[in-house]
Amino acid sequence: MLQNRYSRRKFLKRNTQAGLAVSLGKVSMMLAGCRQDFGKPAVLGGTPVRSKRWPDWPVWDRATDEHELLKVLRSGVWSRASVVADFEKRWAETVGSKRCLAVVNGTNALIASLVQLGIGGGDEVLVPPYTFIATVIAILQTGAMPVFVDTDLETFQMDATKIEDKLSPRTKAILPVHILGLPCDMGRIIGIAQSHDLMVVEDACQGWLAEINGKKVGTFGHAGCFSFQNSKNLAIGEGGAIVSDDDEFMDRCYSYHNYGNPYGALVGEVGSGTVIAGTKLRLTEYQAAIGLAQLKRLEAQTATRNINAGYLRSLIKDIPGIVPYKLYPDVTRAAFHLFAFRYMKEAFQGLSKANFLQALRAEGIPCSGGYAPLNKMPYLSHAFRSKNFQKMYPKELLDFNAYLERNQCPENDLLCQEQAVWIPQNTLLGTKSDMEDIACAIEKIHKQAGELMEKL
Ligand SMILES: *Cc1c(COP(=O)(O)O)cnc(C)c1O
Repeated sequence: MLQNRYSRRKFLKRNTQAGLAVSLGKVSMMLAGCRQDFGKPAVLGGTPVRSKRWPDWPVWDRATDEHELLKVLRSGVWSRASVVADFEKRWAETVGSKRCLAVVNGTNALIASLVQLGIGGGDEVLVPPYTFIATVIAILQTGAMPVFVDTDLETFQMDATKIEDKLSPRTKAILPVHILGLPCDMGRIIGIAQSHDLMVVEDACQGWLAEINGKKVGTFGHAGCFSFQNSKNLAIGEGGAIVSDDDEFMDRCYSYHNYGNPYGALVGEVGSGTVIAGTKLRLTEYQAAIGLAQLKRLEAQTATRNINAGYLRSLIKDIPGIVPYKLYPDVTRAAFHLFAFRYMKEAFQGLSKANFLQALRAEGIPCSGGYAPLNKMPYLSHAFRSKNFQKMYPKELLDFNAYLERNQCPENDLLCQEQAVWIPQNTLLGTKSDMEDIACAIEKIHKQAGELMEKL
């Protein structure tokens, strides 16, 4: 009892100081127009800042999308044909690429691109640790070894200034990722790749319509790879694409995705049959029909996400301890697959990131702590123990402890474990007032951090 009363007084004192700082500091919440009597934290039984639903994902239109899908069904042509070809043509036009090949998913778009650029056993591929697992397993599937380049905390992207330290005689490619839908430092990455004669495969699996100096991401490297999985900004359920201006490479990709059968320049000797050792990665006509329908909405949705992300950023950027994503200066548009900011617990009376997320969720704001570090997970040592790796690399390179040592990414550890907070893309399809709810919830937690610290 005594203990409780004491802590409560301590809390009141701290909270009053925090309140004073808010009113003196012209904190951004004046903009958001939050009520300043927030009541109890929702996580401790108070009323949430937000109880309304968020925009649903995915979205579709009964009248148009269902019609297109049924048309495919009723045609009886379900395997790859004209609808897939139409989707490829539209996607190539949309990103400003000469060619596009639709494939089963983004993971296999990456694998096919790497394999057809000649990446394989014994090679090293530079990759950021701050990405979805698919980026790294794509490298392993080719037999190549991922080499991790640490993350730039401000942008959440691969830190291009650290690439050259990681080069070795085995380095054959860079696999930059436009993570969160924010373009990475492509200018610098392409420059390094050119001066060291490296291939570049862009993982644009979160980068639909993002741009650097008006040029779409996915069109800077030798190949760009996209994903259309259900959660993605262009959602088909499953699906992926490779884009490139290189006809010969795209012909090889086509052949590879179709059992290795002849295609385009890959005619082989007439009558000699299958020309390369391919696989089967074809998209279905149903998927392409949904893709075409979704594509009609992508531009407007991307514009809305950009406007809302910019507004939300302006609302939260002055809250102490909240540091929103930063874009590189040459970025002209982002895709905002996620809205990300860094959380500094020091400005929240030491409240842990996990407790901050719990409190924010309780206030009705969907959020997550994002990726875990990919440069130190068991899948890597599993690959190193495989027959192929054992045959392709000298023992020293497969020593897992030495690998972990060489691939440390301290900035990324900090980002993953302590700082990164994500808000999913569908929330950015809401209204200005929805963004204000997010900002007010963060402001409320900031104000009540002392109480949360004591009671959570
Ligand atoms: C989703 C994603 C992938 C993989 O795409 P799938 O279609 O799920 O196979 C690869 N890289 C990144 C960055 C992704 O977000």
